[in-house]
Amino acid sequence: MDLNKITLPGVEEKRPIVIAGPCSAETEEQVMQTAQQVAEQGVKIFRAGIWKPRTKPGGFEGVGSEGLAWLRNVKKETGMYVSTEVATAKHVLEALKYGVDLLWIGARTTANPFAVQEIADALQGVDIPVLIKNPVNPDLELWIGAIERIYNAGLRNIGVIHRGFSSYDKKLYRNLPQWHIPIELHRRLPNLSIFCDPSHIGGSRELIAPLSQQAMDLQFDGLIIESHCNPDKAWSDKDQQVTPEVLGLILNMLVVREMNQTTENLATLRKQIDEIDMNLIELLAKRMRISREIGQYKKEHDMPVLQTVRYDEIISKRVAQATAMEMSEEFMQTVLEAIHSESVRQQMEIMK
Ligand code: PEP
Ligand code: MN
Repeated sequence: MDLNKITLPGVEEKRPIVIAGPCSAETEEQVMQTAQQVAEQGVKIFRAGIWKPRTKPGGFEGVGSEGLAWLRNVKKETGMYVSTEVATAKHVLEALKYGVDLLWIGARTTANPFAVQEIADALQGVDIPVLIKNPVNPDLELWIGAIERIYNAGLRNIGVIHRGFSSYDKKLYRNLPQWHIPIELHRRLPNLSIFCDPSHIGGSRELIAPLSQQAMDLQFDGLIIESHCNPDKAWSDKDQQVTPEVLGLILNMLVVREMNQTTENLATLRKQIDEIDMNLIELLAKRMRISREIGQYKKEHDMPVLQTVRYDEIISKRVAQATAMEMSEEFMQTVLEAIHSESVRQQMEIMK
């Protein structure tokens, strides 16, 4: 896929690109006050949910299109870009009509190919950045499928948001991070901008800072953090929203290690690997020397080179040791067979 990294004019490409704002737009006052305060913290992209997918009916389902006028006002008053979640073609058309700058697709929507296709059709030929949250279930192919649907509608500024995965048994996290999934996604689509949503992964304010740091250490491009002027009074997700002031502190505390540092770490790790390989070669050479001595002994005592019972015993013992040390049976089998066959070859040389 020929993707572009998410960029917006005037927004520095430096990591992390920050999107912040309340879970939901509640009232015009709450939106404007939060927006002013997050803008003061240097945030350039504002978020607010206008249509809210709620687990059960009866919860606050968002203010709807009325809130789009507030977002337009945020843009005018603060100069920030504005973003919101879309789940249907109607949401897309409404958001575009009000000049929303960036759209995201929610986790429940990504899990539904019909809904993603409907959004993709509504976006056909529109040039707008779209962030796709991971599906609620840990299914990388479903996530990539959603990216492909949006891509096939002609969009190129596509990014993703890692917001964790649902589990029946919630412990520390509201949604399990399962970092290997976004990491594998990055390996498969290296040009995709990856954001982390520590609010929805953690489900609590205290986890926002450590999760954001982890995302930076894993070279994520950006963060989307829920911030509310009065989190305790928020109409949705109140436990995972921080005041704009706390948001500022969290962002300031982040240690962003750029590629250089990583390359350095990588170089040290590679150095260790080189050393281990050298040791392995030396050990193998030593093993072959002993093998040749055994060959000599066998020759003097008129014994055959191949002694199958001993060989089978060696293989099964070593394979069991290796599997206990997190290596596959197949791998150990292959290694031992290769060593053994070289050993036999060297002993045959002596027999000549
Ligand atoms: C949100 O961003 O407020 C939201 C509803 O997120 P998710 O789709 O990750 O649950
Ligand atoms: Mn939320």
